[in-house]
Amino acid sequence: MDADSPPENADVVVVGGGVIGCAAARLLASDYDVVVVERGKLASEATALAAGEVTISPSYTDYPEVGSHALEFFYEYDGTGEFHYEDRESVELVPTERIGEAKRRSERLASAGYDVDFLDGDEIESLYPGFDLGDEFEGGVRHVETGFVDPYTFATTLADDATERGATFLTDTAVTDVLVDDGAVVGVDTDVGRIEAPTVVVAAGWRTSLFLEDVTPIPVRPYRTQCIVLDLGSDMSETFPMGWIPGEHVYFRPELNGDVLVGGWSFATDDPVGASGNADEEFVQHVADLAPRFLADGDNARFVNGWAGVDGATPDTRPIIDAPADAPDGLVVATGFHGRGVMTAPVAATLVRSIVTGEETDLPREPFSLDRFENRSREFRFVSISSGDEAYEED
Ligand SMILES: Cc1cc2nc3c(=O)[nH]c(=O)nc-3n(C[C@H](O)[C@H](O)[C@H](O)COP(=O)(O)OP(=O)(O)OC[C@H]3O[C@@H](n4cnc5c(N)ncnc54)[C@H](O)[C@@H]3O)c2cc1C
Repeated sequence: MDADSPPENADVVVVGGGVIGCAAARLLASDYDVVVVERGKLASEATALAAGEVTISPSYTDYPEVGSHALEFFYEYDGTGEFHYEDRESVELVPTERIGEAKRRSERLASAGYDVDFLDGDEIESLYPGFDLGDEFEGGVRHVETGFVDPYTFATTLADDATERGATFLTDTAVTDVLVDDGAVVGVDTDVGRIEAPTVVVAAGWRTSLFLEDVTPIPVRPYRTQCIVLDLGSDMSETFPMGWIPGEHVYFRPELNGDVLVGGWSFATDDPVGASGNADEEFVQHVADLAPRFLADGDNARFVNGWAGVDGATPDTRPIIDAPADAPDGLVVATGFHGRGVMTAPVAATLVRSIVTGEETDLPREPFSLDRFENRSREFRFVSISSGDEAYEED
């Protein structure tokens, strides 16, 4: 829609047209008059830069319903418009000194019903010829319930669906203020005019905590994370799994054109706007050194492309999807997706809809509630999920 003539009112205004705003708008638009306001182009920030990995089942082994909700959505949504969900297992390569621990963990997960098993190095190499593991990685944990998507196509397909259901998208339009009257949200101001609405969903990525600074404290800080693409001279698209290497700060997945994407190397940043959009030279070098240690054609690796982007981190790495008790009525927050926003979008959308409508959902609310944090300051220690090592922390 033309940003010069925004609608004057709506049932729900969504602030932010990333994957979370688009997914939430789609689920709300069937029953509400929804306006999504995006300061730039749709899905042009963290969403456009994501690797698109869907590793939500291994990330939520304490809440299996979270992983299964997301996976069911991806299976069902596959084939909608241009959207494709690529079902692909993952291998978490385990350094030799952690083999015992990894075997125990995979047994525990398998007995809890996860499709997980431990493979020794020979089994990995015969199943996936792209690997050459040597003595350093004597095995790995195979997680079957994983896959990947193209994040931009995913978000724009959600937006197309939302539009079909009646949602309006205003791009190149910033929301400047949330309007509150008598303890309740009454709308937003944008740089092209006011939109009155009793419900405002703030899905503004890492900017959410700054945007709501005067409304309610949100413990989300920006961090920078990166990806590079390698051409190994062999086609990895069919034969290669996804995976990650604890302690090495990397995850990887095949590209459908046969290349390999390697991501990770995440650090908190105090300069999210000025931060470079290129992959760091140290990261490129790290991957160049690492590739021959686990890839059969690692010595042939040729750098194709690299980039960095900024996402929002929370103290415990899980997002905040909530109507905060101390915020004005009608304010819903969906932020802090900490490297997992693409895979968590179906879950976030269902939770946002449930908060707005009051409908029941089988999804748990507690891992996403704001009041799980006693301290809501933005000054917390950043935990990198791409280290693949829960114990790994840095300032
Ligand atoms: C390099 C990289 C790799 C990643 N890999 C993965 C992965 O493999 N799997 C995965 O699940 N996740 C991954 N992520 C994380 C994922 O990209 C994010 O968690 C997800 O995109 C967050 O979506 P979002 O909608 O919250 O944020 P965003 O995509 O950042 O969208 C927020 C939007 O809000 C808009 N906005 C902000 N303020 C305002 C305002 N005042 N008015 C109007 N609009 C506003 C912004 O312009 C922006 O478009 C990766 C991220 C990066 C950077």
